[in-house]
Amino acid sequence: MKSYDLLYIDGRWVSPVKGGTFDTIDPSTGKVIASVAAATAEDVDLAVTAARKAFDNGPWPRMSGAERAAVLRRIGKGIRDRLQELAEIEVRDNGKPLPEALWDLGDAAGCFEYYAGLAEKLDDDTEKPVVLPDDRFSSVARKEPVGVAGAIIPWNFPLLMAAWKVAPALAAGCTMVLKPSELTPLTALELGDIATAADLPPGVLNIVTGLGKDAGAPLSEHPDIDKLAFTGSVPTGSRIMQAAARDIKNVSLELGGKSPFIVFDDSDIDAAVEWIMFGIFWNQGEVCSATSRVLVQRCIYERLLQRLAEETRQITIGNGLEEGVLLGPLVSKGQYDKVLEAVERGKSEGARLVTGGGRPAHLERGYFMEPVVFADVPEDSWVWREEIFGPVVCIRPFDSEAEAVRSANDSRFGLGAAVMSRDSERCERVARALRAGIVWINCSQPTFTEAPWGGYKQSGIGRELGEWGLNNYLETKQITRYESDKPWGWYIK
Ligand code: NAD
Repeated sequence: MKSYDLLYIDGRWVSPVKGGTFDTIDPSTGKVIASVAAATAEDVDLAVTAARKAFDNGPWPRMSGAERAAVLRRIGKGIRDRLQELAEIEVRDNGKPLPEALWDLGDAAGCFEYYAGLAEKLDDDTEKPVVLPDDRFSSVARKEPVGVAGAIIPWNFPLLMAAWKVAPALAAGCTMVLKPSELTPLTALELGDIATAADLPPGVLNIVTGLGKDAGAPLSEHPDIDKLAFTGSVPTGSRIMQAAARDIKNVSLELGGKSPFIVFDDSDIDAAVEWIMFGIFWNQGEVCSATSRVLVQRCIYERLLQRLAEETRQITIGNGLEEGVLLGPLVSKGQYDKVLEAVERGKSEGARLVTGGGRPAHLERGYFMEPVVFADVPEDSWVWREEIFGPVVCIRPFDSEAEAVRSANDSRFGLGAAVMSRDSERCERVARALRAGIVWINCSQPTFTEAPWGGYKQSGIGRELGEWGLNNYLETKQITRYESDKPWGWYIK
């Protein structure tokens, strides 16, 4: 594999000041695939300085939306032109099955293309008149870029999570320093070459790979950053918010979840099983919005469990590059150990292990596990309440709609939720009662760039995607004019 030991700062590839590197591994073998540049506070400072200069003096914020859109479209095309190659890099770095990586990267390209469209619209939309009750004045509200944004992202959708932040920030006219996860830094680094080829001016996007404490923390604390956009765990999100509080930085957070899925007894069992599986086994369950708590109405409970167990046992597990594989390895040894520990904890807490939890017999190396179905999971157990971030679904029966809604909402998280029933009025009623930022009816997980994404409660602050994602990177300025010929006459009569 090629070398990834440089950082992308001010449009150039440079060695980290201290010359450090860290290894990224292939989770299907546990072997090192690349040695990657390890940024420290000195590199972060250089990257922020470049982004500051590009924002304060460079062309990017001063270009029209249409001009920025042309560059964003070229970035989208740059990803599409290398889709297969980038998807294979992402499979080796993260472990996910190739069809899923191809899907994610197509979405990442689509995200740049979508925000190119919104950048063009901004040209007509930048100023809006404000109606005032005093005709001596006129006023407009004007949208302007927030400034220099710092983006810190996780490892579960490496390039897609980068696109969700880079595309709207650049569309708005911001400049950015991006810090990918140390577990999956490779495709984010490829974005540097794609940006250069798309003629993105130097300093507009800077990419610093490194550990959270060495590169992420200095980025979140840097005084020249105007906005922090973070996706990751709740504890790190809390640290980012504390760092932002010191300088009153604008901050948006996309954090964890323990999303519920309510299945009523009039549902088609096969459809319910299919969406339950997709909701928790897709991307190895390493999905912030995974519907990991499933509530099934009692009279179909055992029948559904049996069908779910049968189907779960048939999932093809293996190296994500092999044809037909639907479940790859977990991303790292650390994550693998955490998920296995959670399974042991579930057993000791009294959850009934219906299937899974072992190592697939044909896979000796790598961080593979059989997907887990837990039934009768106690409501006060750790596995019911906390995010496992792996292919582990926890299931409970319920009797009434009110009980299901109460149990679904009994969580400190509020990212996603799903409801399934043939009764559309019931679905609408439950969707409105659920305290979550995203509610799926008769499905779980489909995500569209056009629709708002984000959580209630401890699942985050703010919304990404759609026009909401663009607003994350815009300030609103009022410009008010005194239009009257008459003097103001307060002091000078
Ligand atoms: P994490 O919080 O450990 O790491 C996320 C990023 O923060 C990484 O780039 C890491 O290097 C960096 N980081 C770590 N410590 C830091 C510090 N002190 N200061 C600044 N940066 C620091 O999370 P993770 O394990 O990479 O991702 C899993 C979590 O992300 C899960 O909880 C998941 O639910 C959440 N997630 C949420 C969404 C969403 O849209 N809501 C999407 C994907 C993942």
